[in-house]
Amino acid sequence: MSTQTDTPCTVVRREDLVPVCPHCNTELPEIYARKPKGPFGIGRGFVFFCPHCRKVMGFGAQWYPFPG
Ligand SMILES: [Zn+2]
Repeated sequence: MSTQTDTPCTVVRREDLVPVCPHCNTELPEIYARKPKGPFGIGRGFVFFCPHCRKVMGFGAQWYPFPG
């Protein structure tokens, strides 16, 4: 019964690796993002989703939440 929620994590930028959609297992050289509409999305930043299956992968406050 271990959870990784509290495990310290180091962010390593790997520009040579392509993310894979957890829903359709398609490699994603690009990820779509748009401003959410409706009562939940006003001022909440972006919603990121898969270009292939369009399932939502996450939410973010900015386009590229990486330092540097
Ligand atoms: Zn997908």
